[in-house]
Amino acid sequence: MQSEPISRRLGSIYRQLLEHFGRQYWWPGETPFEVMAGAVLTQSTAWENAARAILNLKKAGCLNPAAIRRLPAERLARHIRPSGYFNTKARKLQALTEWLGKTCSDNIDLLSGTSTATLRNNLLAVYGIGPETADSILLYGLNRPVFVIDAYTRRITDRLGILPGLGNGYNDYQKLFAANTEPDVSLYNEFHALLVKQAKTACRKSPLCCRCCLLESCLTGKNGVEKELLYGA
Ligand code: SF4
Repeated sequence: MQSEPISRRLGSIYRQLLEHFGRQYWWPGETPFEVMAGAVLTQSTAWENAARAILNLKKAGCLNPAAIRRLPAERLARHIRPSGYFNTKARKLQALTEWLGKTCSDNIDLLSGTSTATLRNNLLAVYGIGPETADSILLYGLNRPVFVIDAYTRRITDRLGILPGLGNGYNDYQKLFAANTEPDVSLYNEFHALLVKQAKTACRKSPLCCRCCLLESCLTGKNGVEKELLYGA
């Protein structure tokens, strides 16, 4: 198992997760801007809370960049209250919409002429947008083949023993996936969504290895299950 090339292991993990969970149909946004806003609103909270904030914005007729820019920050914060950290997130949303106004006059289609690397750098310069949010926007909002890394991805790859050779920073994990998978938007979309599903159902903080579809290829899981059988621990 250890000598199997990483690309083959990742391919097989993807297939097993897909077979087990089926397609996840991410990201549940009706427009690229809704996906962008959702990527900010879901920071440090469950998607369900971000979705409630998005619904509030929709009901108020404010789910577009111009409306968000115009809203007084306190009113915007009230709309997005269910997502938590609402004052900070209101500032972040307004910074994102300022950027959209300046970069493409709110016409997101115009971003299609800009390279992924440039867009990523520009997004990272916007207040409140870190690598995970920028990459979620690029992949799910703008259809760019960028692999999104999050705490779930790190946890699963670590436990499976697929470690970046040089370090354990965000970029190290991203390079690992970029170097060992095809740069394909559909693949990256589904793979990330499946990893999230896996982390929420089986590979939790306290993993449920006995019912995990990856158990056969996971040393951590096998060791844990063996111990449990031997010592009942
Ligand atoms: S076997 Fe256990 S540790 Fe390994 S991926 Fe599955 S749940 Fe996580």
